[in-house]
Amino acid sequence: MSPTVLIIEDNEQNLYLTTFLLEKNGFTVVQARSGPEGLAWADRVRPDLILLDIQLPQMDGYAVARELRKESALRDIPIIAVTSYAMVGDRERALDAGCSGYIEKPIDPWRFLGEIQKHLDARLADGPETTGPKNPAK
Ligand code: MN
Repeated sequence: MSPTVLIIEDNEQNLYLTTFLLEKNGFTVVQARSGPEGLAWADRVRPDLILLDIQLPQMDGYAVARELRKESALRDIPIIAVTSYAMVGDRERALDAGCSGYIEKPIDPWRFLGEIQKHLDARLADGPETTGPKNPAK
């Protein structure tokens, strides 16, 4: 079964590009355009990975990451933050909020796919989910 990636992104161009790259490489994509919508989809589809834009209206990516990490069923899903390259502080804040890694805008397709694969591989290497919670949120 192809891995499912939930993309939480309010920018249509970035949503289009990341969806295109992932689907072209065999992933199933679920799209959300806001934090609350993303949380609802995460709960419903239990994606293998979440791509999370930090700059979202109303509820920003940090708040979304913190909510995801509160739920035991979602706690172990890798979250990759999408940050603006100019905002150096964003990366640390994203990791503090529970993100597993980050990529910078503008998105470099090769680096993007490499980062996604790296986090999926790391999760598989961790063993089945039935072993219980790992990497609890800080
Ligand atoms: Mn945005």
